[in-house]
Amino acid sequence: MDTQHRAQARARAREEAAELAAQGIVGTALTWVDNAGLTRVKAVPTARLEHAAQWGVGMSPVFDVFLVDDSMTTSRHIGGPDGDLRLFPDLDRLTPLAAQPRWAWAPADRYDVSGQEHPVCQRRFAHRMAERARERGLGVLMGFETEWVVATADATEPEPRYPTAGPAYGMSRLVDLSDYLADVLDALQAQQVEVLQIHPEYAQGQFEVSVAPADPVGAADLAVLVRQTIRGVSAQHGLAPSFAPVVTPDTVGNGGHLHLSLWQGERDLCRDGDGPCGMTATSEAFLAGVLRALPALLAIGAPSPASYLRLEPSRWAGAYQCWGLENREAALRFVAGAPEDPSGANAEVKCVDQAANPYLLTGAVIAAGLAGLDSGLTLPPPVAGDPVHEGHEQRLPTSLPAALEHFDASDTLREALGDPLFESIAAVRRAEAELFEGASPRDIAAATRWRY
Ligand code: GLU
Ligand code: MG
Repeated sequence: MDTQHRAQARARAREEAAELAAQGIVGTALTWVDNAGLTRVKAVPTARLEHAAQWGVGMSPVFDVFLVDDSMTTSRHIGGPDGDLRLFPDLDRLTPLAAQPRWAWAPADRYDVSGQEHPVCQRRFAHRMAERARERGLGVLMGFETEWVVATADATEPEPRYPTAGPAYGMSRLVDLSDYLADVLDALQAQQVEVLQIHPEYAQGQFEVSVAPADPVGAADLAVLVRQTIRGVSAQHGLAPSFAPVVTPDTVGNGGHLHLSLWQGERDLCRDGDGPCGMTATSEAFLAGVLRALPALLAIGAPSPASYLRLEPSRWAGAYQCWGLENREAALRFVAGAPEDPSGANAEVKCVDQAANPYLLTGAVIAAGLAGLDSGLTLPPPVAGDPVHEGHEQRLPTSLPAALEHFDASDTLREALGDPLFESIAAVRRAEAELFEGASPRDIAAATRWRY
């Protein structure tokens, strides 16, 4: 972050601020997502955007050891009351918020006061991993699915109540919440978010929206924007959305599946190859790397004790460490796509949820995939049918401490994340496991239901 960069950012922000002011926008929310998976914010008035772009907005580094209940833990590099960081808005992503008419939003990157990249900035980590892939001639496109349960209850009620009693995937849900869902679509469209699909999901009051793929950092930004847009529209309708892994235990939860495809320029590496399901050797090795790393990746992608109430067999959550063609019970589902369909083939990591920090997840998946390439891995045979009946499939870790053991042992993830980020993540996971030790599934669901 040198003098020239700061001056350019300032000039750009001056122009952007003038446009925001002309639209009646009074403030911009600068968000980051912490290691616990919560989107946190500092906001600036429009007149202050210029200063923020040049010098950043101050914040404490301790946020990286916040837990889901806002208590704090500590780690070797991060923790305690000292120090200061700067949040810099990414002006390329500056977006007026349709469901919060006088607000704009920009995701933030974090630097220290002297302008050095903060080693624990999750968004910069995702950026670094995308760069690593690019240096090897690999383009990665990614997209998150957003599932949520919409409730009428306010957070003080012990159990959520739903504004629709319609069945799973039922058209009646879409009729019951016609204006609400149309407003979600409208708001996303006004923000130039390309929606692929929106539909009622399996659980009570549950819906899903999926958006067009983007570069890894862009996909994580979209995950944040889509969620906050749904939150904004819900508030306008007097409703409350839950993105938590489970809203009530013992039923289908909210996933945050991550789709990815690999590209060499215009060439789609997930098709027209000699490997399984027509993928190229590069795609196969990359996906084999992801498959191999899934137990460790769970500490990033299924980071809450609540995640393991969701990650159960027979819920399409992907509880088994296997892959399959269009297999919704496999943790890694390959989607071949129709031969002429330009949207192409892709792989879906299903075992992950929205307690995950999307920047950590995109970056960690790339790191695991590149390690697969380095090792020249191949995929085992795909699993067809329900893995539970196949007998030879491995169940993924069934608790956060079990996933954390794999994470702690992962040299690939430690090297990619760097010690400060790796250790702050591990500290937060350990502390959340302790926080909920001995708690009933009901209590865990209640404590996390409205937090993400
Ligand atoms: N809600 C399921 C989950 O927990 C996913 C359903 C689907 O395949 O879309 O991941
Ligand atoms: Mg779904």
